[in-house]
Amino acid sequence: MPSQQADQSEKRIAIVALNLAVDKTFDYLIPETLRGRVPVGGRVYVPFGNRPRVLGYCVELKAGCRVPDARLKSIQKSLDEEPLVSPLMLRLARWMAAYYRCSLGEALHATLPAAVRWAGGRRRLQHAFLEVPLEKVGQVADDIFDRSPAQSKILRALAAAGGSAPLAHILKSTRTSRASARVLLREKLIRVEKRFVESEYLLDELRREPRPPHTLTSEQQDAYRSVTARLKAGHFDVLLLHGITSSGKTEVYLRCIADVVKSGKQAIVLVPEISLTPQSIRHLGSRFPRTAVLHSRLTQAERRQQWKIIRRGEADVVIGARSAVFAPVPKLGLLVIDEEHENSFKQDSVPRYHARDVGIMRAKYDDAIVVLSSATPSLESYRNARLGKYTLLTLRHRIGRRRLPPVEIVDMRGEWAGGGRQRVISRRLEACMRRSLGAGQQALLFLNRRGFSPFLHCIRCGFALKCPRCDITLTYHRDINVARCHYCGYQRRAPTVCPECGREGISYSGAGTERVERAVQEMFPDQAVIRMDSDSTTARRAHAEKLGAFGAGEARVLIGTQMVAKGLDFPNVTTVGVINADVALHLPDFRCRERTFQLLAQVAGRTGRGPAGGRVIVQTFMPDDPSIRAAAGHDYQAFAEYELPLRRELGYPPYSRLVRIICRGRKPERVARFAAELGAACRRLCPEIDERIRVLGPAPAPRAQLRGRHRRHLLIKCPDARAVREFMEGAKGLMKGPSGVKVVVDVDPISML
Ligand code: ADP
Ligand code: ZN
Repeated sequence: MPSQQADQSEKRIAIVALNLAVDKTFDYLIPETLRGRVPVGGRVYVPFGNRPRVLGYCVELKAGCRVPDARLKSIQKSLDEEPLVSPLMLRLARWMAAYYRCSLGEALHATLPAAVRWAGGRRRLQHAFLEVPLEKVGQVADDIFDRSPAQSKILRALAAAGGSAPLAHILKSTRTSRASARVLLREKLIRVEKRFVESEYLLDELRREPRPPHTLTSEQQDAYRSVTARLKAGHFDVLLLHGITSSGKTEVYLRCIADVVKSGKQAIVLVPEISLTPQSIRHLGSRFPRTAVLHSRLTQAERRQQWKIIRRGEADVVIGARSAVFAPVPKLGLLVIDEEHENSFKQDSVPRYHARDVGIMRAKYDDAIVVLSSATPSLESYRNARLGKYTLLTLRHRIGRRRLPPVEIVDMRGEWAGGGRQRVISRRLEACMRRSLGAGQQALLFLNRRGFSPFLHCIRCGFALKCPRCDITLTYHRDINVARCHYCGYQRRAPTVCPECGREGISYSGAGTERVERAVQEMFPDQAVIRMDSDSTTARRAHAEKLGAFGAGEARVLIGTQMVAKGLDFPNVTTVGVINADVALHLPDFRCRERTFQLLAQVAGRTGRGPAGGRVIVQTFMPDDPSIRAAAGHDYQAFAEYELPLRRELGYPPYSRLVRIICRGRKPERVARFAAELGAACRRLCPEIDERIRVLGPAPAPRAQLRGRHRRHLLIKCPDARAVREFMEGAKGLMKGPSGVKVVVDVDPISML
């Protein structure tokens, strides 16, 4: 519109957000030559400080400001004619900046893949388009098959790619020649145009024959109907799809996506990075040919290209990890968050956002529907469902009425080897392994990763020493022989006899994977054993190979940490042993029971899929712990009924919101002094804001030293999100440490370590 154009060019000042940790935006003069060519939501280069050229985002235009033009710095270059950031994303970024306490530039930065922020060169490629309607392609391809199988293949490949793809790519993947394409071109079955693309149009993992959907069970049908009713209404809503593993949750949301696509809108599916496997992507891609993927294994060029396809509205479905919540689909209809309880949805660097919460805000702005799916929902989501904020949909049965595997709890307090030594593998587990291995089947032993901090527990009665105020385990400090609470700082002398049963037997050792391996080898000297234990990124490939080898039957026993639980899909595994179910229970984190429950429920739910069935043996020193009992009974309800009142009593989420403030630095005294000052300042401030806010600490963080930095933390317990915002606003000026002390603010922290 010309009038708007004129209006734009009168605006001489651009407000620019930079990706820096400064709590403000800056005014820049738009030079004459660029007037009207700096869109809101576009990238600009500006001078900043002594740096001649910094990338920023124009977030607002205005006619003038109080500073005279001569004193303003000028924009050097405008990189986008069209905005890169939509008004919706800008709004979302503003919310993130306010809620998670980061700068607007940092929030904007997080919404764009690096490959897009720093777009480089582009190539023009020949692109082939089908001229036959998709549903007729099969027929046409059949008709011409006798004449030319090659031409037939090209048509099918184009159809599988959703109707268009770079010509070279199609020719290569079908092993056909340009001559075949020319015939199709002449007969107007396809057309070819030059287009900008950076790399292969469709990722290999997406090319697959379509698979027909299942007929829904009545339970699935009910859940599906609830979602579609809301999709039809077209107003923001959140549904929690809670169903045990293999109850068909995926099938339900795939149906909902199909409806969304039919209505001309798009769907985003967020899954934990670790579940973003070629199989899961293909599963979606085979249903929805126009699926785009955003994940960390893509090259920069691929990511940029996927992003552009999404933005042009050429992808009906986007699947990706956390950051795909920012996928720029033109009209979001449905956002699915699969395994919504997974911690990897929370980013552990600035901005420390949670994709579930950002996703819900985005859906609110977009009037879209959110489906949270999980076998073990986070207590936050579960409570929201119980309060009626979310609609709860429950799937109670496994598909095909398959049974969940029996789970047996073995009390390790009675398991002694000769010479008063503790057994690593109980007699019951050994017997089950013997039976499985004897029948040519496999066994999987699972170790909850060891707590990094020594906790004190009694190997006779299972008792673990806890803070009387915070209900978290005390950490043993050998140098000063005390046990200390890492939330509030409470401490006491380390006991030598168990305060509960009065006997001697306080221990803080656990079994590591190597010790388990040795025990297995002693028991079964002729069996091949595979051990997997660190889940660093560098070891990922090695792990995939090891899992592959185990799947192929090259070894009979696999020993590993929680990462093994995710890959559990071995039909020949008939014994699963959880070596130390209670170790995570002793982490100094109020969510430790929830984690234990989730992990055990996952292990239990994923086994016994093959025809041979399966058995899960859970070894523990705390056989009566409710989270272990509930997991063994596959009973989420029981777990929630036990855990929620405890959380309420101590004022933990979901009955409060936490802000965690970490102070860290190389000099321990400096860190300690500043943390104490900050704590005192917060205590003075809080009653003015809301007398329900509680300040805990400072205390040494459970990981008191990390990469050479000393760490202390404070916990602020706020009654609700509003109190969080008000506290953060009020405490803004306090969050800056002296030189040598860095302050990190984490709103709604997931890790308390
Ligand atoms: P969940 O997501 O709850 O773990 P899935 O949706 O993956 O469960 O379903 C588990 C298995 O059952 C999958 O192999 C899926 O293809 C199959 N399945 C799902 N729904 C049906 C159905 N209605 N009829 C037959 N098989 C189904
Ligand atoms: Zn405490």
